[in-house]
Amino acid sequence: MTAQHTGSTRLLIVGPQGSGKGTQGVRVAEAFGIPVVSTGDIFRANIKEGTELGQQVKEITDAGDLVPDELTSAIVRDRLAQPDAAHGFLLDGYPRNVAQVSHLDDFLIGREESLDAVIELSVPREESLQRLALRAKDQGRTDDTEAAIAHRLDIYERETAPILAVYRTRGIVDTIDGVGDLDEITERIFAALGARGLQRAA
Ligand code: ADP
Repeated sequence: MTAQHTGSTRLLIVGPQGSGKGTQGVRVAEAFGIPVVSTGDIFRANIKEGTELGQQVKEITDAGDLVPDELTSAIVRDRLAQPDAAHGFLLDGYPRNVAQVSHLDDFLIGREESLDAVIELSVPREESLQRLALRAKDQGRTDDTEAAIAHRLDIYERETAPILAVYRTRGIVDTIDGVGDLDEITERIFAALGARGLQRAA
């Protein structure tokens, strides 16, 4: 049901915190030869470098709250306008609520583009919580405190999960079981995308 495929691949990966979407997103993007556009990574890099944006969003991200939609959408638009995203991209962490979906729609419609597929990585809340507790130990992310994690999962269920309903009406959602071996999960994603006629770069 996708529009005619032109060789560019525009993907979105969605899943709760701890679903492994960051890891899988990088693998899929690499296979398709497209850049990952991760809002979480963009914010973390800016915080690390102490930029004005970083200073603006540090407290918000540490609390596990969402950065204001207008600001986030402006940053994503800038990023998607860069030459390396002209032939496709994989979005990770954006859009995260229905307001951001409409911002992204406006931007893509202006470029006569659309998303080819939305990969939903499905993982039970208990499993997510366990994985995040491990990550908190390994990576020491300042937003991986117990309170911030629980808050982010709540926001996911309340604000992010509903975006899937929007994309489902467009027939572009592939729900992938995110529990199991990492390579196996990657293969599940490739199979689903392949079934849509989305082929990896040679
Ligand atoms: P996680 O998926 O573990 O919550 P991310 O790396 O995706 O981590 O995001 C980290 C933080 O960055 C979020 O908790 C939020 O504060 C901010 N953020 C990321 N993406 C968005 C977005 N699309 N809209 C608003 N805030 C965002």
